[in-house]
Amino acid sequence: MGQVYQFKVALKHRKTLWRRIEIEGSQTLKDFDRIIRQAFQHDLHDHLSEFYRRRVWEAGGLGEISPYDGGPGAKKRLDRLGLAEGDKLEYVYDFGDDIQHVLTLEKIKEPAEAGAYPRVIAQNKPQYHYCEVCDQGKKTIATWLCIACSEEEGRSVYLCEDCIMGKEHADHFAEKIVY
Ligand SMILES: [Zn+2]
Ligand SMILES: [Zn+2]
Repeated sequence: MGQVYQFKVALKHRKTLWRRIEIEGSQTLKDFDRIIRQAFQHDLHDHLSEFYRRRVWEAGGLGEISPYDGGPGAKKRLDRLGLAEGDKLEYVYDFGDDIQHVLTLEKIKEPAEAGAYPRVIAQNKPQYHYCEVCDQGKKTIATWLCIACSEEEGRSVYLCEDCIMGKEHADHFAEKIVY
């Protein structure tokens, strides 16, 4: 088994949202892409993504990754990129929504005895919002921000899964909250 690469992956424009991810050097950018999508609740089956040695959209992109057919970046191995501890990469999910992430290679280390890679080993402490409808004494974590209601009321309207699906909000434009 080869070495393991430990990255801290954070949203570029919301740095308090981060995941620490371990991946083997012999694994590919496709494997890395998949666990980032899972960890940040991006769609696993839609939208292109790409890793960059520099800033997103600058020269030096490592090739598109497509959930449909792989794409030119998919087969590249981590340990063939010439990375050293402290190096930064960037990653963009969805070329339309342009959700950018900064990846810091914290460590290159020996693998644990038993481990399935890639895996998330740590994440930010979540700052939960609670559903304002269910919030009668019991705290239900909100997983949705109703954009339609928030704009109409001039404040953030946070809701749980059941409430966003309820009659009042079912046809409202809403955004999933990632913690
Ligand atoms: Zn609720
Ligand atoms: Zn609503």
